[in-house]
Amino acid sequence: MAIQAEYIWIDGTKPTPMLRSKTKVIPEYIGSLHELAIDEWGFDGSSTEQATGEASDCALKPVFTCKDPIRGGDNILVMCEVLLAQDGSPHPTNTRAALRDVSAKYADQEMIYGIEQEYTMMRTDGTPYGFPVGGEPGPQGPYYCGVGAGRVMGREIVERHTQACMDAGLRISGTNAEVMPGQWEFQIGPLPALAVSDEIWIARWMLHRIAEEYDVVISLDAKPKKGDWNGAGAHTNFSTRAMRESYDAVIAACEKLGTRVMEHVENYGHDIQSRLTGKHETAPWNVYSYGVSNRGASVRIPWQVERNKRGYAEDRRPNANVDPYTVTRLILETVCG
Ligand code: ADP
Ligand code: MN
Ligand code: MN
Ligand code: MN
Repeated sequence: MAIQAEYIWIDGTKPTPMLRSKTKVIPEYIGSLHELAIDEWGFDGSSTEQATGEASDCALKPVFTCKDPIRGGDNILVMCEVLLAQDGSPHPTNTRAALRDVSAKYADQEMIYGIEQEYTMMRTDGTPYGFPVGGEPGPQGPYYCGVGAGRVMGREIVERHTQACMDAGLRISGTNAEVMPGQWEFQIGPLPALAVSDEIWIARWMLHRIAEEYDVVISLDAKPKKGDWNGAGAHTNFSTRAMRESYDAVIAACEKLGTRVMEHVENYGHDIQSRLTGKHETAPWNVYSYGVSNRGASVRIPWQVERNKRGYAEDRRPNANVDPYTVTRLILETVCG
């Protein structure tokens, strides 16, 4: 039977890359979700800021596939790495390739992650979907984990997206309404670096795709609305096997993260200075700190972790627009290296 395979990749848009996708009809699909069974493909890189017109071909290498819950049936989604067509080496925009090497290097430490993806729904005119047309809502307070008209906006999209993630077989672990109206969060994990990152990218793609039907734009901007409104982050929870067994290892990991502060912050997403101000449950971007239960620290140790004397830590600095391949790689290098 013929199916549609949606090939998804990350483009070369600066400062924050965007998702692109195109559809391949597979006439006689034999029914394996394994990426090795899915053919490589290509695209015009001169239209995605990944090549010049004279040498425009870029190659798509399938690396993760799952069911396509939007089209349903046997249709599939195919997450791809971008390779140079000339020699098959990773394209400069391919940040997954570097993560492949680093995660193989530290595989023995069994690092896993849970990423909390926050996002803001916007109208196509650029105003927040949670704001009344032409005006501003009441101040932040009733919206976080709220219920009821006037407090919660966009829930239909969230419900559809959550079910889509579950139907695709992704390891979505929860959702909640956020502090600014029309701002939401979903979490993926815990999973190893490559898996959590592939699943975040697929989940982002499905979110954009579902919101399209409501004429709603999903913004991953770090600070979509200036003023007294929370920014949007991607808190990255992580643990090595040692951290899951001992509190000393949790503390050691937090100390290690303090040794490469700028390297992390500079790669945690565009416009991080606007979000990590020291206000709105953030630490200043250029001052590193960690603490138990402290939502004003760069890195938080959840209270249960202190009580149980083992568990994980939460890097609260990454922006909503961070590249998960990059944040998981940096944490691997700094904590395991
Ligand atoms: P918060 O209290 O900061 O809002 P969430 O519940 O939104 O936390 O997200 C916590 C994330 O951490 C979840 O995705 C969860 O799966 C993940 N997590 C839980 N335990 C671990 C662990 N040992 N290592 C890594 N991630 C973990
Ligand atoms: Mn959360
Ligand atoms: Mn949150
Ligand atoms: Mn968090």
